[in-house]
Amino acid sequence: MYIDSHCHVDFPDLAQNIDQILFNMQHNRVSQAMVVSVCLEDWPGLMALVEQHPEFFASVGVHPGYDQVPEPSYADLFERAQHPKVIAIGETGLDYYRLVEPLDWQRDRFALHLQVSKDTGLPSIIHTRNAIDDTLGIMHELDAGQVGGVMHCFSEDWEAAKKALDLGFYISLSGIVSFKSAKQVHEVATKVPLDRLLIETDSPYLAPVPYRGKINTPALVVHVAEHIAQLRGIRAADVAAHTTENFYTLFNKAHPLTETLI
Ligand SMILES: [Zn+2]
Ligand SMILES: [Zn+2]
Repeated sequence: MYIDSHCHVDFPDLAQNIDQILFNMQHNRVSQAMVVSVCLEDWPGLMALVEQHPEFFASVGVHPGYDQVPEPSYADLFERAQHPKVIAIGETGLDYYRLVEPLDWQRDRFALHLQVSKDTGLPSIIHTRNAIDDTLGIMHELDAGQVGGVMHCFSEDWEAAKKALDLGFYISLSGIVSFKSAKQVHEVATKVPLDRLLIETDSPYLAPVPYRGKINTPALVVHVAEHIAQLRGIRAADVAAHTTENFYTLFNKAHPLTETLI
């Protein structure tokens, strides 16, 4: 069984096809997926979806790239985190790709999420783009390793991966690992200890080869696992077993589907 540790199936493109998405997950043996929050305006829709389907879990957070939304308060995040299906805080982090300084609001928002992670004991989902040094700096400063979490859609080099691993974080690889040109991600894919690795689609974005450029869905996480397996010279089934076990170890508020049904 596979688990997609990061997807956005609540986005309109995907939410309207949820029955097909669930069917394809079952067909590819993707048992569960985390639907990651990006802003609180979308929260009611995300939770309606997650409450309806035992295959899905939720996180709560406001993405660092969302600059046109109200700033979340501590209570906004803390209270939503109490829901039994909310198993993580995020996605949070820093994104300097599109936005320009002053970005103190982004760093403050990140720090707030890490505080809520510590106070709830829920791991954080870290997004970082063009900002790895500041991201790791804030994680270090706020002792984010106390609860830990995952560096999602990891696309930095092995040096950065090592620093995140040293902080106690997991590394999640997306369809980028299937792109021929992504040499530094290939290196990370071969070096991350198997007990610290997660897999994700980040759907609807970043569909893996051979679906590159198409709309991504959680079922395609099997191709992420296959590419990692190929790079490491192991079986996809081994990647599946490890990443699934790691998911439940890290997000310990989550339960496998079989248990949910009993
Ligand atoms: Zn992200
Ligand atoms: Zn995302």
